Parts: sequence; C-alpha cells; structure tokens
Amino acid sequence: MKSKGVVVVGSHVQGLFMSVSRFPGPDETVLGWDFKEAFDGGKGSHQAIACARLGLPTHFVGRIGQDRLGNIGASWMAEAGVDLSYLSRSKQTATGCGFIMINPDGIPAITTAMGANAEFSHEDIDLAESVFSQAKQVLITLEIPLSTALYAARLAKQHGAYTILTPGPAEPVPSNGFADVDLLVPNENEASTLLREPPNLQEPGWLAERLQESFGLKQVIVTLGAKGAYVANGDTTKALPAFKISAVDTPGAGDCFISGLAFGLYYGASLVDAATFGCLTAARSVSVPGSIPSFGTLAEIAEFAAVNRFEIPMVLRAVMDLTTTSTVKG
Ligand code: ADP
Repeated sequence: MKSKGVVVVGSHVQGLFMSVSRFPGPDETVLGWDFKEAFDGGKGSHQAIACARLGLPTHFVGRIGQDRLGNIGASWMAEAGVDLSYLSRSKQTATGCGFIMINPDGIPAITTAMGANAEFSHEDIDLAESVFSQAKQVLITLEIPLSTALYAARLAKQHGAYTILTPGPAEPVPSNGFADVDLLVPNENEASTLLREPPNLQEPGWLAERLQESFGLKQVIVTLGAKGAYVANGDTTKALPAFKISAVDTPGAGDCFISGLAFGLYYGASLVDAATFGCLTAARSVSVPGSIPSFGTLAEIAEFAAVNRFEIPMVLRAVMDLTTTSTVKG
C-alpha cells in the first residue's frame, strides 16, 4: 500500500546576497561585492527539502515562475526527493526573490519581491486536491496569501489530514482564522504579532496560552531560538530546552524544527517527543553554515546526536534504526 504523504503548502523565494560597505540612500548607487545566489529558499521549499531529507514522502504545493530561478529552486527540491507534481508555474510573473545587502557589521537590509508566491491561489490548491486526499499531514507556511494558506488548511481537514501552520511572517488573523489548524508553531515574535502585543515582553507560557484562548487552538508550540521551545497541548505544558551547541548561523532553524516535529508526529510520537526531535534537527542545522545545506538526513541527525551525546526520544530511536536501513517510499 502507498504510504500516506506529507504535503507542504508554501513559498519559494530565492535569496540573492551582496556585501556592501554601507547601505545606499535614495537616488544613490553604492558598489558592492561577493554576489551570491545562495542555496536558500522560502519557508515552504525549506520545509519540503528538510522533510524529504529525513526520508518523509514529501509533496510541495506552491507557485514559482517559468524562469531560471524557478528552475533552480525546483531542482533543489527534486534532488532532495520532493514530489513536484502540484508545483504551479506562472507564465507572467517571476519566481519570488529577496535582495539581501550585508553591511560590514553583518547586518542585512532586505527587500523581497514575492513574485509568483503572491499569485498562489485557491485554484492552485483545488488542482492539488488528489495529493491532499492522500496526506497524513499538511504543513502550511505563510509568505503566500493568507487566504490561500487557510483554504489549504480547510481542504486538508476535509480530507482528514493533520495540519501544522507556521505563521511566518505573521500578520493579523481573525479569531476564527485557525479553525482548521491542529497545531500552530510561531516563533516568539510571530506569537506576539498574532496577539497584537509588543515583541519581547511576554513569557512563552503566557503567549502559548493566549494563542490557545484567542484562536480556539488546542496545540501550540512557541519556538524560542537558543532557549528551545514551549509546548502547550490542551492543559498540559512543557518547556523544552534547546540542545546546547555552538551556533554558526541560524536562518532556516524554524523550518528545520518543523521537519523534525513532522517526522516525530508522522511516526506516532507524542507532541513533546516530536518537538524534542524538532529541537534536535534544528540544533544540527544551526551548527552547519547555510540554510538548505544544514538540513540533515536521518543518518546525519543520528551521528550529530551520538557525537554530542544528545538523547533521541526512545520511540523515535527505533523508527530511525528502521528507516535508515530501509528508505520510506511515497
Ligand atoms: P525561527 O527560525 O522561525 O525564528 P527559532 O529561532 O525559534 O525559529 O528556532 C527554532 C528552533 O531551532 C528552536 O526551537 C531551537 O530548538 C532551535 N535553535 C535555534 N537557535 C538555536 C541555537 N542557537 N542553539 C540550539 N538550538 C537552536
């Protein structure tokens, strides 16, 4: 029997990086250097690649342009083993891309053109219905129209899938907006924005509880960077510390956390064990330079855990032993 899949609904954005001695002002040109088309995507393509690297049967539903940057992004996902049958391609609009200027202090100034992501529509979701009907989990990211993201959650629930939504970048959402979301996973800033609170003021437990109350959610995980993650499941809560590791760069950590979390839940782990596995996959990602290059395979995660003497939840250790010897097929 075909195993049920993980569907990732979200963005692809190509990062274009350049170093500058200072940021230009209006009507000014500043010479830059070290231009790179980085191996760095959007939240959706990141989550899809990270899930596929863990061996999950992964499908990406999103929209890119019919252009060179789109071809590159699609090839990264295909190489990781992501099924792209429901990737739609705009004839008239370019693939999303971000211009990132880095100043000598390492501070970025960023402009992002969402391109084809902004055209990603209900119709694109409807065209992918057959893959939703085979989904065990549907992971939804923003950087696409909010209404498309919430429509995807509704279709996923109609087909009985478990839905996880990462609300980044956060934007105001009506109180019934997450009615079809089983698990909401914001970082601390996104949690504050959704609650219309100023950033960095409230404790994670307070944020998680208010999100549960305000949006009628049972399950919320607030990710806390180097402080770990806070898991709220109904009335049960648990603060999970991060795995202590020397971080070399953190972009993509949240997306990699989602892949480990999805892997755990896919194989029947509790929310806390799955989130612990998410912390582990994300800790490995912050210890390796780059975003996409830092998303580990199961064998790499097992080695990372062994070298650093990090404990893998028991229920997942058994699954890892099995799946590293026989690859999961979609
Ligand atoms: P985002 O990338 O969405 O802002 P976070 O910064 O909260 O998300 O990071 C997601 C997860 O990555 C955290 O819950 C944590 O488990 C892990 N993580 C992030 N930074 C570190 C770090 N410096 N050391 C160890 N783990 C980290």
